[in-house]
Amino acid sequence: MKVTEHIEQANGETLFTFEILPPLKGQDIKSIFDNIDPLMEYKPPFIDVTYHREEYTFKELGNGLLKKQVVKKRPGTVGICAAIQNKYQVDAIPHILCGGFTKEDTENFLIDLDFLGIDNVVALRGDAVKSETYFKPETEGHMYASELVSQIQDLNNGKYLDEELQNSSQTNFCIGVAGYPEKHMEAPSLDSDIHFLKKKIKAGAEYIVTQMFFDNQKFFKFEEKCRKAGITVPIIPGLKPIATRKQLNMIPHRFHVDLPDDLIMNIVRCKDNKAIRQVGIEWCTQQSKELIEAGVPILHYYSMGRSSNIEAIAKAVF
Ligand code: FAD
Repeated sequence: MKVTEHIEQANGETLFTFEILPPLKGQDIKSIFDNIDPLMEYKPPFIDVTYHREEYTFKELGNGLLKKQVVKKRPGTVGICAAIQNKYQVDAIPHILCGGFTKEDTENFLIDLDFLGIDNVVALRGDAVKSETYFKPETEGHMYASELVSQIQDLNNGKYLDEELQNSSQTNFCIGVAGYPEKHMEAPSLDSDIHFLKKKIKAGAEYIVTQMFFDNQKFFKFEEKCRKAGITVPIIPGLKPIATRKQLNMIPHRFHVDLPDDLIMNIVRCKDNKAIRQVGIEWCTQQSKELIEAGVPILHYYSMGRSSNIEAIAKAVF
């Protein structure tokens, strides 16, 4: 079922959903199921599965030369989506990227998803690979997520890359896109970022999932600006409970989001990660309660592979 239909059916009640990462290459799918199992009690209508593009590593050959290797550390997005739908009978939503994909790769990927009975996709640009400062599309790929949305929408209209295809079947994907309450790191301003977000909606996206944020006021202001800009689709807040001291530096650096001073100081005063985890749960629980009060359609949690803190929050909130 489409995300928009899940929201409609909920009749104003806030739904609980979450996102998982495929396991690192070499690990089995059991670790994923072990994380999902305890969260099923809170009846998520769908589970997102992230996509991880290739990375470049350099291996020393012993003769002073380096060999460039292309590695995909977390393959398996499509397989995990199929396994989730099969095991839990809930919708699985794969993320799909511009990065690393030609238009032909994208079309073939979407055909697989359609054959598997997947009804939703989240369309993203992806980040630059680690060895490059700026994002570079494949030669026959997309530069921005809005272009990827257009391609998915074309397929929804039965328009394939090969225009000579006759009587081709239409897909029916509901498309989600990313939004950034604190603006995307490369955007010169929040207003310009929202301008391009609107382009993704115009191209056919039906809902927005936000980057994580730790201050609800940032979300409320972002939502207000989106509405003023004429964006009417559901905006789903993304939340992440902090769980380790390392994340205090990693999260602002990697995701370009601010942490409120109160949260920072509460964590700084903690003796160990167990205490930090508790602070993270309490902070995220308060955020969740306020967002539900404000009437958000869904609370979407970034599990980053570990579910016990999400479970504690869901228990307190849903
Ligand atoms: P876009 O919407 O293309 O925007 C990228 C930048 O370009 C923005 O600054 C925007 O303002 C600007 N821009 C857009 N269109 C134009 C235009 N026409 N002209 C000029 N500027 C323009 N990454 C992964 O690798 N895998 C995942 O599974 C994944 N899941 C995510 C889920 C969510 C909910 C979020 C919020 C992010 C996720 N990401 C994921 C990270 C995402 O890929 C990066 O944040 C990426 O840098 C931007 O992706 P986007 O789709 O927002 O890009």
